[in-house]
Amino acid sequence: MGSCKICKESGDFPVWYARDMRHASDEIFAYFQCSACGCLQIEEVPANLYSYYKEEYYSYKKVSERKLKESALKGVFRRAGAALGTSSGPGARLAKSIFTFPVHHDWFARAHVTKASHILDVGCGAGSLLARIRKEGYKNACGIDPFIGDDIIYPNGLEIKKARLEEVEGTGRYDFIMMNHSLEHIPDQVSLFASLARLIRFGGTVLLRIPVGTSYAWQEYTTDWVQLDSPRHLFLHSKKSIELLAREAGLEVTAVEYDSWEFQFYGSELLRKGILIDKQKAFLEDNGELVFGKEQMEEWKKTSEELNAEGRGDMAAFYLRKVSDNKGEE
Ligand SMILES: [Zn+2]
Repeated sequence: MGSCKICKESGDFPVWYARDMRHASDEIFAYFQCSACGCLQIEEVPANLYSYYKEEYYSYKKVSERKLKESALKGVFRRAGAALGTSSGPGARLAKSIFTFPVHHDWFARAHVTKASHILDVGCGAGSLLARIRKEGYKNACGIDPFIGDDIIYPNGLEIKKARLEEVEGTGRYDFIMMNHSLEHIPDQVSLFASLARLIRFGGTVLLRIPVGTSYAWQEYTTDWVQLDSPRHLFLHSKKSIELLAREAGLEVTAVEYDSWEFQFYGSELLRKGILIDKQKAFLEDNGELVFGKEQMEEWKKTSEELNAEGRGDMAAFYLRKVSDNKGEE
């Protein structure tokens, strides 16, 4: 019998047993999928959760001095590029048809983020995305992450606090809160959503980018699905389970954009071959295109686009707004 931590249903839900997908070990982790809301979730959150985040985990590396600084001229171009990339006028549309802009420009455009916006990046690691955003001229951007060693203050003033969202004080402080593949790492989803609802202002936007547990890739690969990333990913949501959490917190999903890519295939295929996520980059560098072939990669890219259009890609961006002041009274 499983009991869903999202919709509270309990039942004889299907169960899968997964290994640690990054580090070689004998440990096994049980996941079940709630038949009522579709949320795939770890049966028991490991007591020593932090021990599954090793130093080499990608988000730990501090942003280098070199990356924080740039010449005045380059800064001018970067800020102009960001102004264009985040606008939706005819000039911007033309530029976007010719050049590739960073993907966060699309998020900012959709959420009407301006240079004055107060931006919070939740689960930002050492803040590599924030460093880039600050260089583009977004001065009121900061981040939190409970898994970093200690608070970080960069020479340019960018602050990253070692904290959980629940520990951030205040109400309606932020115009834009984003969680880029961090929501699925957090044990208490209900409390997290309550904090998101408290901290976002009316008219602001919460962006949740997450893996999706009702995707084609999950159905095809199950315990070899690269985005399961057991045991670090605790909740692999469905659209329904996100909508449910949002509603209960006084938030509302305004848009969903699927943004999966070919990694859902080659990452999962490599796991099927027994190559753990942390070893995949080196494996691909050593074996190059010989592993799957160029045509196969192209096909996976195309299939990913099709799956996204059908709402079956394994990654999605959820945009939420605040609809009511839910102060937690029952
Ligand atoms: Zn459920």
